[in-house]
Amino acid sequence: MSLSLSAEQPAVPDVADDGVWLECIECGETFAPFDDVRYTCDECGGLLEVRYADLPTFDDFEGHGVWRYAAALPFEAGVSIQEGATPLYEVPRLEDEIGIEALRIKHEGMNPTGSFKDRGMTVGVQVAKELGVGRLACASTGNTSAALAAYGTRGDMETLVLLPAGKVAAGKIAQASLHDARILEVDGNFDACLDIVQELAAKGEVYLLNSLNPFRLEGQKTIGLEILEGFLADYDTVPDRIVLPVGNAGNTSALYKAFRELVQAGELDEDDVPKLTGVQADGAAPMVEAIENDADEVRRWDDVETRATAIRIGNPVNAPKAIPGIRETGGTAVAVSDEEITDAQRALAREGIGVEPASAASVAGLRKLRASGVVDDDERVACLTTGHLLKDPDAAAAAGGDPEPVPADTDDILEHLQQ
Ligand SMILES: *Cc1c(COP(=O)(O)O)cnc(C)c1O
Ligand SMILES: [Zn+2]
Repeated sequence: MSLSLSAEQPAVPDVADDGVWLECIECGETFAPFDDVRYTCDECGGLLEVRYADLPTFDDFEGHGVWRYAAALPFEAGVSIQEGATPLYEVPRLEDEIGIEALRIKHEGMNPTGSFKDRGMTVGVQVAKELGVGRLACASTGNTSAALAAYGTRGDMETLVLLPAGKVAAGKIAQASLHDARILEVDGNFDACLDIVQELAAKGEVYLLNSLNPFRLEGQKTIGLEILEGFLADYDTVPDRIVLPVGNAGNTSALYKAFRELVQAGELDEDDVPKLTGVQADGAAPMVEAIENDADEVRRWDDVETRATAIRIGNPVNAPKAIPGIRETGGTAVAVSDEEITDAQRALAREGIGVEPASAASVAGLRKLRASGVVDDDERVACLTTGHLLKDPDAAAAAGGDPEPVPADTDDILEHLQQ
């Protein structure tokens, strides 16, 4: 299996351009990276991965943010708004409450547009420039559209986003709108939007920047590299486990790829690779179902529902990359209720960390797995929080306390405060 942790570095094919090529994860067919627009394998329709003749070592990394990791990426630089270099917060109270050796929160909400999608877009929009395509597009539960709009306009390209009507948080639509995307509100769910945008891309109408696009995942690998460097600096060891919310499973795939490349480069011991642990909402948990049933394929859920709109996805397109990642690292997947998600959102907020509901799923999942004994008390764990609180102001206000109306008078207010 080409996605195993112990896979050898493949031979460099003739189609490689400057040591970079695309390879099908199913049949192994290779393709030149920037000659034609291509999202999946011409031969078998499988998912593609970006491959490199030279894999980087930790010593190759210099600078700040996503492009610190240029040695692990297809370019030296891209269309950038200074993405990456997000905080790896300590959360001593939450760590105590959950009862583990160490807990850190990698807060991806601190990216330029407030989610990790920026890391993928800085690379993906650069590829669009290399290919010379005209119009960029994505289907989105919100954050991809915000990031695509910002990076697209910064790269001076037109952007089109397809959103499920009524299911996208207010902050995200506001961003796509102000950053000048053309927004189509589709009368259907996210998976339907993705089907349509894939068809538009196949007709050559748009360049697709969903996480099906293998270059997006290259940028998102840098989350894993930052977490590893942060843990090595603070604990002199990599984390035992990384817990993350799962929607299309792009991040799960990207983190696994980052670790696989470090293992291949001899920079990370196979046994030390963090256990990738995915969390979904009860109402949208096809990956959890596949992992629990030890299935190789994910069954598409047609009806999905959760307050965590960013992971309201029934057909995770990157499952063929993510399932080996969870299995090979000894990780697992777990589903949590909307109530557990909101509780975790409040717990993070008490530590001063403001996240949107989907992000809190990671902490909710960790809590649940620790309570059931799947996670040991001696583990050092990183939880990924994927988006900022302000992305979904309605969810935040609903989870928090209500404002109290008072007269504009100090004495009245003092009296009110006695109550
Ligand atoms: C996109 C997104 C996810 C899902 O990530 P995948 O890589 O698709 O699994 C989770 N949380 C937030 C906030 C997101 O924007
Ligand atoms: Zn193939």
